[in-house]
Amino acid sequence: MNSNVSRRGFLTRLGVGALVVGGTAALAACGKSGGGDAQCKDPTGASDALRKQNEYTDKATDPQKKCSGCALFVAGDASCGKCTLFQNSPVSPEGGCKAWAKKA
Ligand code: SF4
Repeated sequence: MNSNVSRRGFLTRLGVGALVVGGTAALAACGKSGGGDAQCKDPTGASDALRKQNEYTDKATDPQKKCSGCALFVAGDASCGKCTLFQNSPVSPEGGCKAWAKKA
């Protein structure tokens, strides 16, 4: 093995390592939507603490308490509405959180 092959091998391993680390970081960021599942995220991140505190998920854990049936939900397009509790940031109609309140 000469030094060129060795250098190439090192650089290849370095590149593969960088891809693995970068991919892991990207996946971690994807799931980091303030407690959600990344479908309807707050683009500013301003409500992330509230989402986490109220255990928001894009799929309600209780099917009887979905965002679409919550008094704090404002309907939007087909995929995301808005939550007044979460500073009018996007939430899924199928989502839910601990602050659910029945629509009047
Ligand atoms: S407060 Fe209501 S609309 Fe907002 S995330 Fe919780 S369940 Fe959904």
